[in-house]
Amino acid sequence: MGPRDVTVAGGAGFLGSHLCDRLLDAGHRVHALDNFCTGSPLNVGHLRRHPRFALTVHDVIRTCRLDADGIFNFACPASPEHYQRDPVHTTLSSVAGVHHLLDAARRCGARLLQSSTSEIYGDPEIHPQVEGYRGCVSVLGPRACYDEGKRCAETLCLAYHRQYGVPVRIARIFNTYGPRMQPGDGRVVSNFIVQALRGEDITIYGEGQQTRSFCYVDDLVEGIVRLMDADLVGPVNLGNPVEHTVLELAEAVLRLTGSRSRLVHRPLPADDPRRRCPDIGLARERLGGWQPAVTLEDGLKETVAWFRRRLGLQAPRVAA
Ligand code: NAD
Ligand code: UDP
Repeated sequence: MGPRDVTVAGGAGFLGSHLCDRLLDAGHRVHALDNFCTGSPLNVGHLRRHPRFALTVHDVIRTCRLDADGIFNFACPASPEHYQRDPVHTTLSSVAGVHHLLDAARRCGARLLQSSTSEIYGDPEIHPQVEGYRGCVSVLGPRACYDEGKRCAETLCLAYHRQYGVPVRIARIFNTYGPRMQPGDGRVVSNFIVQALRGEDITIYGEGQQTRSFCYVDDLVEGIVRLMDADLVGPVNLGNPVEHTVLELAEAVLRLTGSRSRLVHRPLPADDPRRRCPDIGLARERLGGWQPAVTLEDGLKETVAWFRRRLGLQAPRVAA
C-alpha cells in the first residue's frame, strides 16, 4: 500500500503512539486524536516536528469531521483502574466514540480498524479463546463499562459494514505490554516493574494463580498493521498464546530487575477473569503467518530498561 492519510484516535496512548511511529515509518501521513485522559503528549513528543505528523486534542464522544483513507480507533482507557474511574465516560468512549468515527469513515470513504479486546470473552469457560466463542460477561459488574462498551462497539462496526458498506476490521487484543505504559496506570506489568524497581511490595491480587498471556507491543503493532491491510471483516484475536500465572510474572520481574521486593497478597478484584489465552489460528492463517516473535523474557527486559529511564533510575552494574 502506498502512502496514505491515516487517523489514529487515542494516538497519544501506549499502543496508539507505537502505532503512529510504525505508520510514519511506512511513509503515511498520520493524524492523532486524543483527549489525554490516560495518554500523554509525551508519548508522541518525539514526533512534534515530524512533517507528516499532526496531533489534535479531541474527545471522540463528540462528532468529528475527518479526511482519511484509514482510521485506527484506539481511544478508550484500557487499565481496569482507569476505566472504572469514570464508567460513564468509558462506556461512551467506546460506543459514541466508534459511532462518530464510523460516521466519519462513511463520509470520507475510509476503512476503520477497531481496537477491541479479549474482555469480549469476559471470564471465559473455554480455553484457549476462539473468535466464535460468545463470552461470559457480567452486564452489571464493575468491568461492564469497558466490556459491554467494547462489545457494542463491535456490533456497531458490523452494523455499519452491513448497512452502509463501511469497510471495518476488528482486532481482539489480549494483554499487551511494553515501553510507554504509564507508571501509575494500575496494570499488572507496569505495577510489578515499578514496584520491583522502587523496592516496594509486589501486589499479587488473590492467590496469583489467574493467568494472562502477555504480548510485546511490537508484535501487536505488526498484527494491527497486517490486519488493516487484510481482507477480513470479522474479529481476529491478536495476542501471545503463551499463558502465565500472575505469580510467574511477578517472579520473572523480580529475577530481571534483581529486586528484593516482597510478594504480598491483596484481594482479587470483582469479576477478575481467571484464565485468558488467545487461539491465534485465524491470525496466523489470514495475516501472512503472523505470530508473536518476542519472548516474555526479552520483552520484559526492554520494558524494565524503559521504566528505569522513565523513573530516573540507574541500571545496576554488571560484574565483568
Ligand atoms: P491507553 O490508556 O494508554 O490509551 C488510550 C488512549 O486513548 C489514551 O491516549 C487516552 O488519552 C485516549 N482516550 C481515551 N478516551 C478517549 C476519548 N473519549 N477521546 C479521545 N481519546 C481518548 O491504553 P492502551 O493500552 O494504549 O489501549 C489502547 C486501545 O487498545 C484501547 O481501546 C484498549 O481498549 C485497546 N486494548 C488494549 C489492550 C492492552 O493490553 N494494552 C488490550 C486490549 C485492548
Ligand atoms: N494484578 C495483580 N496485581 C496488580 C495488578 C493486577 O495481581 O498490581 C492482576 C489482576 O488481578 C489480573 C491480572 O493481574 O488478574 C491482569 O491485570 P491487568 O489490570 O493488567 O489486566 P486485565 O485484568 O484487564 O487483564
